[in-house]
Amino acid sequence: MADAYKIIDHTYDAVVVGAGGAGLRATMGIANSGLKTACITKVFPTRSHTVAAQGGIAASLGNMGPDHWTWHMYDTVKGSDWLGDQDAIEYLVREAPAAVYELEHAGMPFSRTTEGKIYQRPFGGMMQNMGEGPPAQRTCAAADRTGHAMLHTLYQQSLKYDADFFIEYFALDLIMENGECRGVIALCMEDGTIHRFRAHNTVLATGGYGRCYFSATSAHTCTGDGNAMVLRAGLPLQDMEFVQFHPTGIYGAGVLITEGARGEGGYLTNSEGERFMERYAPSAKDLASRDVVSRSMAMEIREGRGVGKEKDHIFLHLDHIDPKILHERLPGITETGKIFAGVDLTRQPLPVVPTVHYNMGGIPTNYHGEVVTVKDGNPDHVVPGLFAVGEAACVSVHGANRLGSNSLIDLVVFGRATGLRVAEILKPNTPHNPLPKGSEEQALTRLDKFRYANGGSPTAQLRRDMQRTMQAHCAVFRNNELLAEGQTKIDAIAKGIADVKVSDRSLIWNTDLVETLELDNLLDQAVVTMHSAANRHESRGAHVNEDYPDRDDANWMKHTVAWLGAGEAVAIDYRPVHNYTLTDDVEYIKPKKRVY
Ligand SMILES: Cc1cc2nc3c(=O)[nH]c(=O)nc-3n(C[C@H](O)[C@H](O)[C@H](O)COP(=O)(O)OP(=O)(O)OC[C@H]3O[C@@H](n4cnc5c(N)ncnc54)[C@H](O)[C@@H]3O)c2cc1C
Repeated sequence: MADAYKIIDHTYDAVVVGAGGAGLRATMGIANSGLKTACITKVFPTRSHTVAAQGGIAASLGNMGPDHWTWHMYDTVKGSDWLGDQDAIEYLVREAPAAVYELEHAGMPFSRTTEGKIYQRPFGGMMQNMGEGPPAQRTCAAADRTGHAMLHTLYQQSLKYDADFFIEYFALDLIMENGECRGVIALCMEDGTIHRFRAHNTVLATGGYGRCYFSATSAHTCTGDGNAMVLRAGLPLQDMEFVQFHPTGIYGAGVLITEGARGEGGYLTNSEGERFMERYAPSAKDLASRDVVSRSMAMEIREGRGVGKEKDHIFLHLDHIDPKILHERLPGITETGKIFAGVDLTRQPLPVVPTVHYNMGGIPTNYHGEVVTVKDGNPDHVVPGLFAVGEAACVSVHGANRLGSNSLIDLVVFGRATGLRVAEILKPNTPHNPLPKGSEEQALTRLDKFRYANGGSPTAQLRRDMQRTMQAHCAVFRNNELLAEGQTKIDAIAKGIADVKVSDRSLIWNTDLVETLELDNLLDQAVVTMHSAANRHESRGAHVNEDYPDRDDANWMKHTVAWLGAGEAVAIDYRPVHNYTLTDDVEYIKPKKRVY
């Protein structure tokens, strides 16, 4: 098999897969410590999905009103519906201000207050006084193009360091030996050469897998390739049942309208013109957390109060806001509204609908970014040589539901933490062991299988079936019947990959082949997501099963970990939620009913 492909070997101290916010920050940190570092990315770094982030990045700077890291911690724990690990959450919120100042000093063009400080807007679930309110202005923003500003800043900075970039290389599989990660195999999409990276440490920063669903705000490249590589390596993914729907995707197009729109005073109405959020979340209203707002919208639509011909969406109003403010603070979405909804939002409401936006689940790690698994009864067994960071990882700081603007901060805080950890455990010039024989075999067999696949199902058709099934059976509202049917359907669709048809046999820019590899990755994650959702008999955060309407802390305050075996067999176990903090500076935040 290997003879048919040209293999080029590389040796590094560390290889980072992914050049979004998480991957770039990790690359910079590792390279800065004098270790030989490579960063592999399937898209040009500044095209990573991080570029699309709009609303902002959370940190308790207190520039525009009182704030404190303990308040940010409280909100994050509550937002997670008590599924987040409190040691990791403490780490995140305490490091957040320094991480934002680091970006500022690196040249990130934040919006400013009149005194020249970083501008901060209110965001859903971000409150003062340990959840008591009023809303905290905590989300630092560069207009509504924060991710764009951040990613370009990070990319420019990363060029200062001595790291090698492998751009438009598609990572295929991890190289594993005796439960340890030894590197990664990648395909150079431009010339079809195979690259084998031997590395002491491999960092997966491959982002989320929103494209399992039909309507998603994420880029078409968000296919969770790293997550699927982990499953193929015989390791589990964690909390995959928790999929965040953003309340305001543009109806039809799925394109995001930032929560910052409601942060700046926007509000939602139903077909009766009613501001219905006042009924569901009397105190936070339109700025309740995302799962709460999405469900309220879905309820309105279900009860016949949706807007439009099909009564299947909701209106978002910004037409009462001074056009000057819109122009200054939300220029991007003003344009988006025009292009994707044909609406002048200074005069008309925008048609919106809850749309898949973020994956709370992913590769389980500790707060150093080290990948963990359950082994011999130890729920925190560290997988040597393997790290994960960003949306691909599940640290878990977001638990059952992520608060808006807490992902961008997660990228840079844990990207940095990963760099620190790698530098701590690995000394420069540590010698490399030879790779196991046939280390490229698994990756190349899979590549070859799809390259010559000659079945009856085009990739696009299988993908559509998967996306429709996930959207219909595993969305905002779930119940036992829907999930049971969903399991049967998604397993059958996943098995259908055996009958896929790829028409292009070349290795030069073969998008047909790459999309099929991505689809295969998505299918594995769709199966694990559906089975994990069917398995969780309670409602918590983004996971709502109408047959178990309440949160059940006695039985279900635990992380799901799921392995995928042959024939779509999903094996499930659990890891305890860390109900302790990192230091004595803050007390464990005890579970309460989550109301906004
Ligand atoms: C429209 C939108 C708006 C958002 N707005 C906000 C916001 O305002 N605030 C906030 O906090 N969060 C926001 N989020 C969430 C946040 O932007 C993402 O969670 C975050 O950017 C993910 O970053 P990442 O570095 O983990 O991955 P990404 O930015 O998705 O990057 C993934 C990287 O992995 C690489 N990669 C993937 N697979 C492979 C492979 N097989 N081989 C090689 N390379 C590979 C890609 O090339 C890419 O470089 C938003 C998300 C979306 C979709």
